[in-house]
Amino acid sequence: MNRNLIAIRTMPNDEITGLLDLAAEFKAKINAGEDVPSMKKTVIGLLFFENSTRTRVSFEQAAFYLGMRSSNFATSASSMTKGETLKDTILTLRHERINGLVMRHKSSGAPMLAAKHFGGPVLNAGDGQHEHPTQALADALTILERKTSLEGLNVSIVGDVEHSRVARSNAWLLDKLGANVRLVGPRTLLPPHPSMLPGECYDELEEGISGADVIICLRLQRERMAEGMISSIGEYASLYQINADTLRFANPGCLVMHPGPINRGVEIDDVTADGDSAVINQQVENGVFVRMAAFYWCFGGQQS
Ligand code: ASP
Repeated sequence: MNRNLIAIRTMPNDEITGLLDLAAEFKAKINAGEDVPSMKKTVIGLLFFENSTRTRVSFEQAAFYLGMRSSNFATSASSMTKGETLKDTILTLRHERINGLVMRHKSSGAPMLAAKHFGGPVLNAGDGQHEHPTQALADALTILERKTSLEGLNVSIVGDVEHSRVARSNAWLLDKLGANVRLVGPRTLLPPHPSMLPGECYDELEEGISGADVIICLRLQRERMAEGMISSIGEYASLYQINADTLRFANPGCLVMHPGPINRGVEIDDVTADGDSAVINQQVENGVFVRMAAFYWCFGGQQS
């Protein structure tokens, strides 16, 4: 059975844990040099309408490990610059017999539209400020490798929560699997209707990270932010930066995470980003394995 991977919010818990288990299994196999399933008859289209380093390359790497062929679709070189609509672009790729699509788009909901017209699996690689499901899976796998269970963990998501799709996917996933989610940031960057997202809101950093077992730092999403939402970068950093000084309010052994790209010196300082509590590189690495699991799951475990 073919499936789409669009949002964590609508995924049943057993599918989330199944994907995490599968990712861990693929990681163990790749690390041991063992065979993983071959999906060599599958061609996947990578459609990135917004910039990406980590997500795009890790989807490519995941496709490579599974023996798939990936076809990169450079939006600046496509017929969309001649006025072709997203729908017609998707229909073209469908009739060129691309089997699945990985899509990043600035509009929330674009992968859902693509799924309607494509007729094969569509994987959301980040849509506007809606969701980034594979990032949340990579983050959960990274936490689980160090804390064993998410149940009862205090996880503080700090920064520009309102404009962050990473915050949304993480809040849903962590809440579903039993963590206590806290959303921390200036009022202007917290969701205007907090009841729409699981978690408690805090606008004081010290209170929001007190007793935290995990802190997920977020970049200010300036590309999605109206002017004037923060007074200045300097003031924001002085109030919300994760550094040695602020980290002492968290629990000993607190993990510091960041989905990247990092703006060093703003949401996190250099020492913490490169320090022992940080698991940022591990999040990147696990991104490859959760995306392998996502491909395998979306194509119904099909092997050839
Ligand atoms: N890379 C993540 C995303 O695409 C986080 C970020 O850009 O700040 O949402």
